[in-house]
Amino acid sequence: MPRFSRLSLAPLLLPALACLSMPAFAGTPHVHGQGLLQLVREGETLWVELTVPAMDVVGFEQLPTQPQRVRDVEQAAQRLGDVAHLLKLPPAAGCEVQTASVESGLLPVAAQAPRHHADHDHDHDHDHDHDHDHADFHGHLELSCKRPDALRSVEIVLFVTLPRLERLIVQSLGETSAQEVRLQRGGDYRVVLP
Ligand SMILES: [Zn+2]
Repeated sequence: MPRFSRLSLAPLLLPALACLSMPAFAGTPHVHGQGLLQLVREGETLWVELTVPAMDVVGFEQLPTQPQRVRDVEQAAQRLGDVAHLLKLPPAAGCEVQTASVESGLLPVAAQAPRHHADHDHDHDHDHDHDHDHADFHGHLELSCKRPDALRSVEIVLFVTLPRLERLIVQSLGETSAQEVRLQRGGDYRVVLP
C-alpha cells in the first residue's frame, strides 16, 4: 500500500498516515462498532494512535448536557489515555508512557482539538443534521521502550475496555515493514509487530 512506502519518515507521517488510512472510512460516516489502532515503532519510541466512534465508547454521539453523561465522557477519555486499557505490552520491553492525550468532540469545548469540523456544524441549515452527527474519541500516546527488540507482539485489550467494540483494524509500522490486521470480538487479540 502506498501509505506504507515511506517508513523512515513514519513518525513524521503519522498524522498523514491517520488521514490516509481513512479511505476505508472517508467520505462516509465512521462505522459504529469498528475502531482503528495504529502502532508505529521507531527506535525506542512506540506511538499508539486510536480512533473509535464515540458510540462504541460511551453509547452516544451528541454533545452531553446531563452531568452523568459529561462524567461518562470525561471518564472514558481518561480510560483511553491509559495504555493499560488499550493493549498489553511485553514487560521485557520496558515501555513507559511519555505523553498521552485523548480528544473527542464530546469533551468540553476548551478540551477539544481544533482539527474537527467545529464550525461546520454551526452552519448547517436543518436540525436534522444534528441527529446524524458523528463523534469519535482519538487517543495519542507516545511510549519509550528500553528494550524495543522485545516488542515482538502486543495483546489488544480494547475489546474488554469497550464492550460495544466489535472490530478493530490494527495497522502497525516497524522500521522495515508494515502490516494491517483486522481483529474481531471473540477472536485472537494478539498482534505480532512487524
Ligand atoms: Zn457515529
